[in-house]
Amino acid sequence: MLFGAHVSIAGGIFNAPLYGKEIGCDVIQIFTKNQIQWKIPFLQAEDIKHFKENRLKTGVIPVTVHSSYLVNIAGPDDNVTEKSINDLACELERAEVLNIPFVVFHPGAHKGIGEKYALKSIAENINKIFSKSNSKSTFLLLETTAGEGTTMGYKFEHFAEIFNKLKDLSRIGVCIDTCHIFAAGYDFRDEKSYYETIEKFDKIVGLKFLKVFHLNDSKFPSGSKMDRHEEIGSGEIGLNGFRILVNDKRFKDMPGILEVPGDIYGYKRNIDLLRSLVNGKN
Ligand SMILES: [Zn+2]
Ligand SMILES: [Zn+2]
Repeated sequence: MLFGAHVSIAGGIFNAPLYGKEIGCDVIQIFTKNQIQWKIPFLQAEDIKHFKENRLKTGVIPVTVHSSYLVNIAGPDDNVTEKSINDLACELERAEVLNIPFVVFHPGAHKGIGEKYALKSIAENINKIFSKSNSKSTFLLLETTAGEGTTMGYKFEHFAEIFNKLKDLSRIGVCIDTCHIFAAGYDFRDEKSYYETIEKFDKIVGLKFLKVFHLNDSKFPSGSKMDRHEEIGSGEIGLNGFRILVNDKRFKDMPGILEVPGDIYGYKRNIDLLRSLVNGKN
């Protein structure tokens, strides 16, 4: 697996590969802008150039843009939906300019209007995003969720249902967040549960759609539907589940990105720990 972390763009987007290098990342995830604002600042040509130079200099590969936390294409608020469609269409273009293959977003929350409506809305709005965006190559990845509140994406069936309604599947995929699927009730703490969970995903969605992992341990037990990340091995999942996952040959070239609490040294410690699990080194 290619290991990495969500890194900051403090001081400029071009700094992200440098931060990644400092903590030993093969790959990184970034926000391209403030994640709690709708504002979309222009990406300066100088900054893009500098970003690509730092990528070459460090060898760190930026693989995912995480969308704004405000995005919701599942709910009843037309204003939010419209802003979200615009935001994701733009993120696909911004990622493309930066040579980043994937934009990850959360399928959204239905806020009381029901799951059936939400799944239909998500699919229709993804169709709109692709027709609105001028991007040609970037993928949109739906992230699995823990199922807190009225959020969608806590069942593999949700993705299958959404994909069934899409006009074009050529640039669509899934990001499995280990904390989220575990909290949603998909266990993988031992060989048996691990292979069952992956097989379920393959049967229901299809492994060909799986593009990225978010590697986070979970503060709360399986089935709790609580989305609280914990450092690898310190949560309810524990080291064994991660050991099985990082040694699964099917995912040897797949990005695995940490989003754990703590500072950059915590990230470094978690990345080192994940690497030590490969081929039974720990
Ligand atoms: Zn995640
Ligand atoms: Zn989370």
